Amino acid sequence: MSNSRVFDNLASPPAVVQTLIDAATTARQIARDGGAGAGAGDAGTARDSTFTHSWLFTGPPGSGRSVAARAFAAALVCSDPDEVGCGRCEHCRATLADTHGDVVFIQPHELSIGIDLMRTVVDDAARLPTVSNWRVIILENADRLTEPAGNALLKTVEEPPERTIIILCAPSTDPEDIMVTLRSRCRHVYIPTPTIEQVTRILVSEGGVAEDDARLAAASSGGHIGRARHLVHNQKVQVRRANILNLSELIFHGDQAFQAVNSLIKGIEKEMVETLEPLEEQEREKLETSLGMGSRGKGVHKALQGTGGQLKALEDNQKKRRTRFLRDALDLALIDLAGIYRDALVVASGAEVGLTHPDMEGLSTELATKVTPEGLLDCLDAINKSREYFGQNVRPVVAMDALVGRLRKAYKVR
Ligand SMILES: [Zn+2]
Repeated sequence: MSNSRVFDNLASPPAVVQTLIDAATTARQIARDGGAGAGAGDAGTARDSTFTHSWLFTGPPGSGRSVAARAFAAALVCSDPDEVGCGRCEHCRATLADTHGDVVFIQPHELSIGIDLMRTVVDDAARLPTVSNWRVIILENADRLTEPAGNALLKTVEEPPERTIIILCAPSTDPEDIMVTLRSRCRHVYIPTPTIEQVTRILVSEGGVAEDDARLAAASSGGHIGRARHLVHNQKVQVRRANILNLSELIFHGDQAFQAVNSLIKGIEKEMVETLEPLEEQEREKLETSLGMGSRGKGVHKALQGTGGQLKALEDNQKKRRTRFLRDALDLALIDLAGIYRDALVVASGAEVGLTHPDMEGLSTELATKVTPEGLLDCLDAINKSREYFGQNVRPVVAMDALVGRLRKAYKVR
């Protein structure tokens, strides 16, 4: 077995890591022998069953799919003579920093990925590696491929260019979300949710965090690494979490709950604008430049809509991205809220199970005293219903107000 430091800090199970190390080791042998290896449509009869050109990484949100994909890419292009994925050579470091010329990391933010982006991916995949042995294409959010986009990609996945490896990633617990034609041509690697201990260890090893804080963030994020990292380092996120958990207390006090929900949504909208507006502005400028519109202003905006419709398409995409941002943030807030009712049920039952929000035990104990177990179950049910509504494009404020109404009913507050 080869060593590989780029995988050291992954929370993925040893079997997954070994699969990737073995594949990268075989890829290196293929490159060294100068052969075509398992090239062009020949993956099934590869000289070594560990290797294939097309991969599909799936796992629940936050399980570390992208991190695993990036580590795999580093192992593939690594130039250390003894280790695959040494973590020290220029290729490993460039890959991890997203500056490697042969590693293309595509992270579409749109709700659906269209055919235009897929054509660039196909072109990218067709190019030969320039500074290393392999060209690696990592495509995030592959579950959002439209059918035409998936079909455009199909041939590349089916018969990848000799020196190209393509990794599709999807935040899914179920590969059914990926077009069956694509899925069937990839080797599937499932990255499960890491344990709270694993997330704690990763946060501590990244530095700047006390172990207790790391463990609390890991627990209250349900093993979602990205959320835990965000929570432990970002005060705004900590405040939002406190506010949403406090909502469970405000339900006893009528109007205050509706006000809290309103300010929660306003806060998220503000963050959305702060986060996305600079990016949107950049995209618009880039498009205007490419359309030969040097100057900017109201008139330009309108004229472009009339001519190409490209600006309109960009605006549509930006709007979709805003919708997604808002929806994702509210969904995460509701997951936090569900945690406090689950904790109250744990407290009520006296079960020896770790709490999702161990720092809020006072609150979950109060809920367990004041609300019946049936009521707490109704609360969880109400939250699940609201999460479904967000999937159906109901206005956030309407869905959240309806949630407050249902929670009040479950509490039997009159
Ligand atoms: Zn290396």
